[in-house]
Amino acid sequence: MNPRAVYYEGNHTFRLGPGEEVAPGPGDVRLDVAFCGVCGTDVHIAHGAMDHRVQVPQVIGHEMSGTVAELGDGVEGFSVGEAVVVRPLDSRGETSADRGFSHISRNLKFLGIDTPGAFQQSWTVPAFTLHRLPQGIDLQLAALTEPLAVACHDVRRAGLTAGETVIVLGGGPIGLLISLVARHDAASVLIGEINPERIAFAQSLGFDAGPAPEVGDGADVVFEVSGAPAAALAMTELAAVRGRIVLVAIYPEPPPVRLFDFFWKELELRGARVYEPEDYERAIELVASGALPLERLITKVEPLERLPAVFEELARGTQGVKILVDCGA
Ligand SMILES: [Zn+2]
Repeated sequence: MNPRAVYYEGNHTFRLGPGEEVAPGPGDVRLDVAFCGVCGTDVHIAHGAMDHRVQVPQVIGHEMSGTVAELGDGVEGFSVGEAVVVRPLDSRGETSADRGFSHISRNLKFLGIDTPGAFQQSWTVPAFTLHRLPQGIDLQLAALTEPLAVACHDVRRAGLTAGETVIVLGGGPIGLLISLVARHDAASVLIGEINPERIAFAQSLGFDAGPAPEVGDGADVVFEVSGAPAAALAMTELAAVRGRIVLVAIYPEPPPVRLFDFFWKELELRGARVYEPEDYERAIELVASGALPLERLITKVEPLERLPAVFEELARGTQGVKILVDCGA
């Protein structure tokens, strides 16, 4: 049977079509994709917000798990049938100006946005993007590795230590994953969120969540994940003296920020973008350990052929945390 793929065709439209088994060139690996999660970024693409980066028709998707199907010349350390995830960053255009920070290098290509992605049965990628999964790992949960690695990176950027207080502004998928990792690291976590369904879900995971989170003397760390200008305004007030604010959200327009608070409380603002290899390794460890209730975050699993309809439903604002697509491999 020929592999299948779902193509973004621009203009909010996706189409199921024939895929391709792209023979792996030197240094590449062809994967059988097991599951691929739908990310907020994919929804942005569906809205047409990233048409300048996506060459239509194009397969998108980057939150995947799968197995090695075929090795290109010169690939070592992996064998056919092994379970893997892809860290979807290609920094081969890195220059000395990037100062060794490959994951945020200026010519970075993001697999599944700038190049074809994983909403297909067969996906060929550079071997350097692969991370091996432990034997027997649940491939549905393993598809959460990519967003969990984002959370691990954000928590690492915060320099979080046990016993600290944390406020996470935004209770969507990334906000929840940051909260789970921070709680696992023995921080006490509050979630700021205004959507009643998201508040109820965060509470069902045991978090204190609501529209007005507050820690008596301020939080040691505030994660701004919501992208709401009101949160950018609140984040400095919510932070304790010498508190750290980690900016995870993407602000296309500059929001008002109380710079005075940075002066008055000696606050620190840290950016956090994607992940580094060690964040992936930690995320894989966390998935494999079963320490986090990740299965609760999977709202539903849909077959690949339903993906065009799933994007239509998401455009109408269907709620939930994470939709996984069974890519059928
Ligand atoms: Zn993602």
